Amino acid sequence: MKATIAVLPGDGIGAEIVPQAVHVLEAVAARFGHRFEFKTADVGGAAIDKTGRPLPDDTLRLAKESDAILLGAVGGPKWEGLDYSVRPERALLGLREQLGLYANLRPAKLYSMLADASTLKREVIEGLDILVVRELTGGIYFGKPKGIEKTSEGEKGVNTEVYTTPEIRRIAKVAFEAARKRRRKVTSVDKANVLESSELWRRVVIDVSQGYPDVELQHIYVDNCAMQLVRAPKQFDVLVTTNLFGDILSDEAAMLTGSIGMLPSASLGGTIGMYEPIHGSAPDIAGKDIANPIATIASTAMMLTYAFSLDKEATAVEQAILRVLEQGYRTKDIHAAGTRLVGTKEMGALILKELQHA
Ligand code: NAD
Repeated sequence: MKATIAVLPGDGIGAEIVPQAVHVLEAVAARFGHRFEFKTADVGGAAIDKTGRPLPDDTLRLAKESDAILLGAVGGPKWEGLDYSVRPERALLGLREQLGLYANLRPAKLYSMLADASTLKREVIEGLDILVVRELTGGIYFGKPKGIEKTSEGEKGVNTEVYTTPEIRRIAKVAFEAARKRRRKVTSVDKANVLESSELWRRVVIDVSQGYPDVELQHIYVDNCAMQLVRAPKQFDVLVTTNLFGDILSDEAAMLTGSIGMLPSASLGGTIGMYEPIHGSAPDIAGKDIANPIATIASTAMMLTYAFSLDKEATAVEQAILRVLEQGYRTKDIHAAGTRLVGTKEMGALILKELQHA
């Protein structure tokens, strides 16, 4: 197959980890007979420095014209004094909004050799492989009315949780489709015992499930879900939930697996998806060749699955990561006694070698 991939390294460690992921995609193309064309553009602080804007028109156009987007991370202390409307992070909101990326997929998968990096006991997390599907463009972060107003009794802060049937329907479909590629179980997380928006959420999810008789559906209240994630996380396959609940639960789920440098994500919904590590630009370690590139490389596996339906190729990338970890190579964030410490470039090169010689 032929595809154009927009490459947006962004700031901080983005410039170090993204090239490693591009090399991996190049190796996938060579090994499996595909043609990927990479087009690079500035985003975030790097774009502000050149154009004054975090998401220049050229970058947005490139993103819209490509088949998938590979993003590093944006932000850093250099741009923290700027107004919120022109901060690097605005670029992410702009891309999500412009591309209709309403579904954020965050897998939390434990590599067994890293089990001791988790705060939970090995037996609780061994074999963990869950996927959080978070609604990304609705709910309480966007609902109106919102704001802080003065009243006779002092100030009043207001946010409103709003979900419409189409919004719930489309995110539920993403979850059921994802479950079909996994263990065919969806757990919908809500607060339907208290919130009307959750009552509608549950009703619509049940309705959507009628179209997926091969996928098991379960409902759970968010407070119980938070508890179950640390008690017995392996009971879950796909968790689907609202923007706010997903924001919190996806971080909880991610940290079960140990390091932030390991975890990929995909933002989907429109015709073009965006694939990126869950971590930020890590200014504290930028430019030192110590950042872990695995989250970004694993994001390319998500791209291969979700953008191109290249499941065999995605598995090859995941296997290459696994084998390098099995051989004991570790970047600083996951380094432990008895393992071999490598830098960003070397970790990328090792994964590339595994992929090329498998
Ligand atoms: P961060 O994720 O950048 O870093 C948190 C900690 O994790 C740091 O100690 C960092 O060194 C470490 N870390 C992160 N990625 C790592 C990797 N691949 N390998 C090894 N260690 C890694 O979060 P932060 O420090 O809160 O934010 C830094 C900047 O990134 C801020 O400007 C923030 O707004 C931005 N940010 C961007 C995104 C994004 O682009 N999607 C997401 C989160 C934060």
